Amino acid sequence: MSSKTRELLLSLFKKSLENYIPGTGITFRKAPEQLELERNRELEYYKRVVYFCGKCGQCRYVYQDAYWSRVCPSGELRKFEAFYLGGKNLLLWGLLSGKLEWSERIARIFYHCTLCGNCTQQCQLPEIHNYALEWLFAARVEFVKRGIGPMPEHKRFGDWVRKEHNPYMELHANRRNWMNATKVKELPEKADVVYFVGCTCSYREMEVAKAMLEILSASGLKFTLLKDEWCCGSPLFWTGQVDIAEECARHNVEEFKKTGASVIVTSCAGCYRMLKQVYPERLGLEIDAEILHAPEFLLRLMKDGGLQPEREIGWKVTYHDPCHIGRHMGLYEPPREVIKKIPGLELSEMVRNRRNAWCCGAGAGVKSAFKDLALFAATERLKEAKETGASVLLTACPFCERNLRDAAEAGNFDIKILDVVQVFRDSAVKK
Ligand code: SF4
Ligand code: SF4
Repeated sequence: MSSKTRELLLSLFKKSLENYIPGTGITFRKAPEQLELERNRELEYYKRVVYFCGKCGQCRYVYQDAYWSRVCPSGELRKFEAFYLGGKNLLLWGLLSGKLEWSERIARIFYHCTLCGNCTQQCQLPEIHNYALEWLFAARVEFVKRGIGPMPEHKRFGDWVRKEHNPYMELHANRRNWMNATKVKELPEKADVVYFVGCTCSYREMEVAKAMLEILSASGLKFTLLKDEWCCGSPLFWTGQVDIAEECARHNVEEFKKTGASVIVTSCAGCYRMLKQVYPERLGLEIDAEILHAPEFLLRLMKDGGLQPEREIGWKVTYHDPCHIGRHMGLYEPPREVIKKIPGLELSEMVRNRRNAWCCGAGAGVKSAFKDLALFAATERLKEAKETGASVLLTACPFCERNLRDAAEAGNFDIKILDVVQVFRDSAVKK
């Protein structure tokens, strides 16, 4: 070894000792100064931060509030690094630096993700904590651009939405069939409040839509529905089919204008995030009305004296935080406040709640493309719900309800799954 090489190695060794934390075996590496990044940019833009990931694996667990509880449905089912956030970061680095080839195999790994954001909550690197969801989404857009994504199931419902404006392969003409079993026969064209029903409540979880209609009818408010409601665009947007999502959004915004409403309420977490966040911030479409998620609306109704829950409901319940309103929009407390105001309901929390809540497994196209993953995640959540001793699992999203109920039926779980809206209706609306 030459003296020059020896000197260099010695200086490197000394430098590493400067950062050594005695007795720990850990060498402290200074984090680069935190970067303020823009959102909603193309994948290439995030290249410089994707590689900050240290592959430490901390994003697999909630280690603070719920000690070492698992976080990632996709990683936990497949049990392979590529399916966790750290692995996805590494794959992206490979793709963006040209060391890996864009392929359907890799696309499938990226679509094996509900974009629930639990991993980003746990990662302590600010850039990853704050922006990893941006690049997980941007990767999908890139896969679509390259003709590798979305998954065939997503493509199928994307094509259907263009024709019939819903992802459930149902006819647009049947969108309001759920109303046939209600007392409401006519609705005004203009009103103060619009109830945006969404595809899941219109075609699958109709009991939630009916409960909302009963509440609105009993509230004394002047309300209506959109005369021609289309899918909010959520399943399209999050699978990277942004152009179809935008078509839906443009149509709905025009429909909202026709009603002159100052308040829009929706009982779907996915619709809420689309209307409130994605339309204005990512699609540049402003809605000139206040957008409320159903529990927020119910709290306001109670405050204004419109409707009060009075009937005693004697249940022990637990509450599942839907990712779209929880981690993505910060609405953790309104549903809990509604639950606490209903006489006779006892709320028992699951270990993983609020920002650490385990995802139900349905979102971002997972339920249609990877049924085993959706079932695995929901089953895990049901086990956790059962541990609380609750007989009813409440949530505030029809898509979560649907996936949790499917898993409850498949696994013979003895637990009822309901929306907060339904229990409020039972307590507040006179029969
Ligand atoms: S995403 Fe964060 S927590 Fe996960 S492996 Fe990378 S640095 Fe570690
Ligand atoms: S967003 Fe959710 S499913 Fe996707 S990698 Fe992170 S924890 Fe896993």
